[in-house]
Amino acid sequence: MIKTRFAPSPTGFMHVGNLRTALYSYLIARANKGKFIIRIEDTDQERFVEGATDLIFATLKASGIDYDEGPDIGGPSAPYIQSERKEIYKKYAEILIEKGEAYYCFCSKDRLEKIHEDENGYSYDRHCRNLSKEEVEENLRQGKPFVIRQKMPLDGETTFEDMVFGTVSVKNEELQDIILLKSDGLPTYNFAHVVDDYLMGITHVVRGSEYISSAPKHVLLYDAFGWERPKYVHLPLLMGKNEDGTFSKLSKRHGSVSFQDLVDEGYLPDAIINYIAFLGWKSKQTTEEFFSLNDLKKLFKIEEINKSPSVFDYEKLNWFNKGYLSNLSLDEFKIVSKKFMPDNLKNKNEDKILELIKPRIEKLSDIAEVTKIFYEFPNFDKEKFENKKNKTDAELAKSVLPEIVKILENMDVFTNDVLFLNLSKFSNEKGLKVGAVMWLIRIALTYTLATPGGATEIMEILGKEESIYRIKESIKKLSN
Ligand code: GLU
Repeated sequence: MIKTRFAPSPTGFMHVGNLRTALYSYLIARANKGKFIIRIEDTDQERFVEGATDLIFATLKASGIDYDEGPDIGGPSAPYIQSERKEIYKKYAEILIEKGEAYYCFCSKDRLEKIHEDENGYSYDRHCRNLSKEEVEENLRQGKPFVIRQKMPLDGETTFEDMVFGTVSVKNEELQDIILLKSDGLPTYNFAHVVDDYLMGITHVVRGSEYISSAPKHVLLYDAFGWERPKYVHLPLLMGKNEDGTFSKLSKRHGSVSFQDLVDEGYLPDAIINYIAFLGWKSKQTTEEFFSLNDLKKLFKIEEINKSPSVFDYEKLNWFNKGYLSNLSLDEFKIVSKKFMPDNLKNKNEDKILELIKPRIEKLSDIAEVTKIFYEFPNFDKEKFENKKNKTDAELAKSVLPEIVKILENMDVFTNDVLFLNLSKFSNEKGLKVGAVMWLIRIALTYTLATPGGATEIMEILGKEESIYRIKESIKKLSN
């Protein structure tokens, strides 16, 4: 049975790249009726951030990604938080020492800093690799601080198969004797995740391609223990497009990159997940692009993961989000947009406004901007009356608007339908196109070229008094 995991470090925010890793790892498990687990990798205590693990759980929950084992739900391999597994790593590091695959290193910080400086790099000179048993025992007896290092083969090559990137080989002479257990007794990522993946029965290691260069060290650890290697699925790099058209690793300067920031900007979790699924994968079975998590669970195939870098395209995300927003029922839309409704809309006909804007916005944070016309009377702008298609201009506005005011003043029922009927009748009588009359009214009300809804819809929302007031103000300014 396939078993995958998502193993985030609690850094305090969920980068979309991490979320993609979680999603792909989850989909690989679910598509194959396997198991998916969560493990928290918090052995780098300096990077510890308060509340970070809760944020991880909350993000997975909001995304609909469920798991079979994890810190908050337990499971047969508990605990699932690395800082609570210290004893386990110690035990396995000692096993490697027994086997001659790792060694104690007593080098002082000073000494290490010197060799770093001397060699202009970070390679360790393997000073402690061949200490005699007696020397080691004496050092331990004296309580000298130590780390445990992996004993890399000195020649030959290490090769492994990656399910996305294919065969990966490195010359062993390029591998350093990296630290497995630090002097504080905590393991490094390189060691801890191997021990955990083995003990937790992980069959497929799914993670970002930034780990591909360390993977040879990891497979050597499996070999050293005599464990069967897992399958590796490294995911393509995520890039962002720079202003000058070049690409670089996706980061804040490209836009929001954390799940929470995207949600705060008004992207729906379903839309984010749908879009993220395409950052490195494309189904060969269909050209459809809108997929629920359930659809994805059925469709996703490891063989369809792409190894070339993918670019996070905010336009495309907007397109997905717009699709998701317009598919919501009005009630659902009301709920998700609540946080984004400006206070100034409080006494306005909220349902009508929501209905108008629902199919028109790309993200919920657009609401403030597109609804401005309902609570702010924008600045007069004569030019905007000009419209070639409808053959309108300020002169026409000046002559027609006063007559329109009269019609409006005589109306008792001020709804979209009735307004439309009366104004169409007026257009016909005047020999004007309905579009022309509506254009003039809409501009007189809003001075905005693109508005959510047409003139009559806007008037219904503004109400009789406000609509007439705005048109009269416009007439005044037109005559000045
Ligand atoms: N803790 C690592 C990270 O957050 C996980 C790497 C892995 O999945 O093995 O990047």
